[in-house]
This record gives sequence, structure tokens and C-alpha cells, in this order.
Amino acid sequence: MFASTEAQFAFAQRRGMKVAGANAVFLNANENPLGPCEAARAAMTAAIPESGRYHDEYGEEFVNLFASQGALKAEYVDAYAGSSQPLSYSVLAFCNAEKPLIIADPGYEAAARTADAMGAKVIKVPLAKDYSHDVKAMVAASPNAGLYYVASPNNPTGTVTNRADIEWLLANKSKGSIVVLDEAYIHFSDATPCLDLAAKDSDVIVLRTFSKLYGMAGARLGAAVARPDLLKKVREQGGWTMCPVTATQAGIASLKDASLVEKRKKINTDARQETFDWLTAKGFAYVPSQANHFMLDAKRPTQTVIAAMASKGILIGRAWPVWPTYVRITVGTPQEMTRFRTAFEDVMRQSQSASYAPVRHSNAAMFS
Ligand code: PLP
Repeated sequence: MFASTEAQFAFAQRRGMKVAGANAVFLNANENPLGPCEAARAAMTAAIPESGRYHDEYGEEFVNLFASQGALKAEYVDAYAGSSQPLSYSVLAFCNAEKPLIIADPGYEAAARTADAMGAKVIKVPLAKDYSHDVKAMVAASPNAGLYYVASPNNPTGTVTNRADIEWLLANKSKGSIVVLDEAYIHFSDATPCLDLAAKDSDVIVLRTFSKLYGMAGARLGAAVARPDLLKKVREQGGWTMCPVTATQAGIASLKDASLVEKRKKINTDARQETFDWLTAKGFAYVPSQANHFMLDAKRPTQTVIAAMASKGILIGRAWPVWPTYVRITVGTPQEMTRFRTAFEDVMRQSQSASYAPVRHSNAAMFS
């Protein structure tokens, strides 16, 4: 069995690690500390007695509502138990030994794990200087790509690839290839959503999840959006997915809460900005993010920092080999971020690394 979800990656990193304290703070898996909204909790509770039946009409109700809110025809939307499933299935459907997967580095690894498992080549393309996906380099990477994977905002950097670049990629990609545009974190950002590109029958599969802004990582709900022939190819890899009835009900309730996205986006943006202001004042470097996570440069081997923070009850991570001194931090509640700051400053102070000296860092320099 290969790991292909954030949960599996995060658990793998934690394995064997000593975590201090009963009140550990989990900033290591890009979850939403708020959990499902009130209406979603009530809907899930009400759906518990219904859970004994194969209620596929709830999935249909969810798809119809999601489609109408996104100005899509219902046949352009498939519900899944999270977006990991359609992501892996897309790789299975469009990559093979001759058709490589093109991804960004650092980027979300799930698609690459599936490609590895099926024997398809994975080509990693470094992010551009502004931390967007370098779409020109991605196209140049192979004349016969099967699938280009773009997460915007990206995991782990939280940085956005703008719509013009996505449109350029669609216009210039290899013949017969498709683009998977992963919008898992779109609600936290100011990026222009791209569901309409799928509605226009482009060669794109847009993925959405309820694990992030909607706080339903453990409930499992997501959607794949594309023209029906692409959705069929993806669906055929695993057969039709029945989503948990509690999750579809919670998803419907969340979508009906008209102010939820703006409210939660603001909560996340405020906590993230407060953390960035503190990091800047203390001279720590980070990559400016538009998501619920960001990359922090600890200027020393990442694993030592992750272990030291865990011993103080603060789980952070994960790490990406291509940036060996950076660690991903998920944005928690303001209280959790206060605990993060205290522990992080302690860890940096106590670090054995003789070579480390905090430097005032200008993020503007990172874009030059
Ligand atoms: N895509 C990205 C970029 C992610 O970071 C994640 C999880 O962290 C997922 C997809 C999958 O999430 P889920 O399967 O919970 O919908």
C-alpha cells in the first residue's frame, strides 16, 4: 500500500516521535482547527440514523447544489469521499510508462506516489521565483506528458499560480494530456477560481475538497469537476464512490451557509498575518502564503526542528527534501499560534546549530 494522502504523509512523519503534553497542538496536516461549521454538525447528527442505508440520493443532492452554485451542469460534477481519490484516479487514467506526470517541486506528493506505484515517470519542475508553478518549464519538461498537476494555492508553499498561467498551460500542453487543477485551498486565497474552465470543456479536471476551509477532513467529502468524458475516465479507475451520508449532509449544510467562506477566510488570514508579523519582527524567513499553511525557513535541518517542537507539544511539518531547512506550518487558532511562537522561539534559541544566527529577512528579496 502506498501513501497518497496528506493524512498518511503526516502520520508517517509523526511515527515514533515523542509528543509532549496532553494538549498537543496539531499544525502538521493542514487541517482546520474549527472543524465543521454549526449547521454541518447539526446536519451530520440528523443524518446518523440514516447511515444504515445506501443513500445515493444524498450524493445527488450534494452534486446538484455544488453544480448550481458553481454555474455548472450537474453532469460536470462527481462527488468523492475527499479529493485524494479523484487525484490518484486521474493519474491512473492519464499517465503510463510513456506518458509522464509533471509536478512542481516542492509540491503536494500524492499524484507522484500514484505514478510511482504504477510505473509512470514523474518529472519534478522547480517552482518559479515567485513560487508559482513554472508552467513554461512544465510544458518544456516532456513532449508527451500525460498529466500536469497544478495545486493553486500550492501545498506546501500556499502560493498561487495565476489564471493566465493556467490558461497558457492549457493552450500549450502536450497533445492528449490533461491538467489537474487542485483547488483544495482556493477558499483561503484571493486566486480566481477556475471551475468555469471545466464548464467550457477544456482539458482540465478541477478538484475541490471539504477537508480544508470547511473543516471536514475526517468526514470525507470532495468533488471532481470536468467535462463528462473526463469524469468517466477518472471514475472508471475505481468505480462509483458512495460518500458517507453524514458527509454529504454536512457538505450541503456548509454550502448553504452563505457567509461561511468569507468568515473562515478572514479568521485564517488574520491568524496567518499575525504570525507573519511576528516572524518578520523576529527576523525569521518565510514564504508569503495565501493558504492555511506556509513554509518557514528554520535555517537548520528541518527534522531536528520538528522533533524539538514535538517535545514541546507542538506538531509541525511536513518537510520537503528539496528545501532541507524549511518546515511547513499549518495555521491554527490564534491561541495555538501563540503557543507555536513561544515554542519556536525557544527551539531556535536552544538550537545546537553553531552556524545559526537569526537574520532580518526581507521577503521581497525572494522575488528578485
Ligand atoms: N490536494 C491537496 C493540495 C492537499 O493538500 C490535500 C490534503 O492535504 C488533498 C488534495 C487531499 O485532501 P482530501 O483527500 O482530504 O480531500
